[in-house]
Amino acid sequence: MERITDRRLLGGHISTAGGISKSPERANAFSFRTMQIFSKNQMQWKARPLDENEVSGFKKYVSEFNLVRIMVHASYLLNTASTDMSLRSKVEAALREELSRADILGIDYLVLHPGSPGDMGEKKGIEMVAESINRTLGADHHVKVLLETGAGQGNTVGHKFEHLASMIDMIEIKEKVGICFDTCHVFAAGYDIKTPEGYHEAMDSFNSIIGLDKLLGFHLNDSKKGLGSHLDRHEQIGSGMLGLEGISNFINDPRLREKPFVLETPKGEAGYGEDIANLQKCFNGD
Ligand SMILES: [Zn+2]
Ligand SMILES: [Zn+2]
Repeated sequence: MERITDRRLLGGHISTAGGISKSPERANAFSFRTMQIFSKNQMQWKARPLDENEVSGFKKYVSEFNLVRIMVHASYLLNTASTDMSLRSKVEAALREELSRADILGIDYLVLHPGSPGDMGEKKGIEMVAESINRTLGADHHVKVLLETGAGQGNTVGHKFEHLASMIDMIEIKEKVGICFDTCHVFAAGYDIKTPEGYHEAMDSFNSIIGLDKLLGFHLNDSKKGLGSHLDRHEQIGSGMLGLEGISNFINDPRLREKPFVLETPKGEAGYGEDIANLQKCFNGD
């Protein structure tokens, strides 16, 4: 039997409790080959500078446990689509900080939710996201920004592939930006990725609107809510509305063999063992 953890870059969102240097070993306990972390408390604006020993410990264990293409998830407070000028300067400062922390840690990807422009309209929101990135991301950064596909909850932007393509279009340093495709969000946004036909249609449309070369990673989540619900509610793999039927389209697509797949299921580390066992059930081994 081919183990999915040997054949795919599977990972999960991993806790940094007790220090960031503790996270690689926790990922390794699941035989993960990649992971996602927060580099600071995701609900706070300010963060203490990274401790040097923590940084060197983190890098040492990342290499010891062969973890690659690690993602940092940016703080949920970072609403880059906001049109509120006083909030924008705060967001940009915090985004600069996230980019710098990711670089210090040697991390490849910073995952960002595009956010919401309130009632200012999608077009304005898309422009604001691109502007925030243009004002913070430099060619000398190592880390790339991954715009995450949204569920379309509230007034958020980024739930249509066209939104993300427009953002990339307006971003100056295009080689530093890509997409993180969240399977729960895309399903909730209304793309029927559950059936093989719907999956191929969605991926073809992604490819023609954004380009598969921009698809740098996945958040692999089942969805508590149905197709087109516009609700961002993750579920354990196989227990949601997407089900193993939908999830299997992704893990068995030969075009995605080298892409990182990161679990963000509600039970976190307590549920990854079960998630992996369920992924294994629908993995064709190729
Ligand atoms: Zn996600
Ligand atoms: Zn989500």
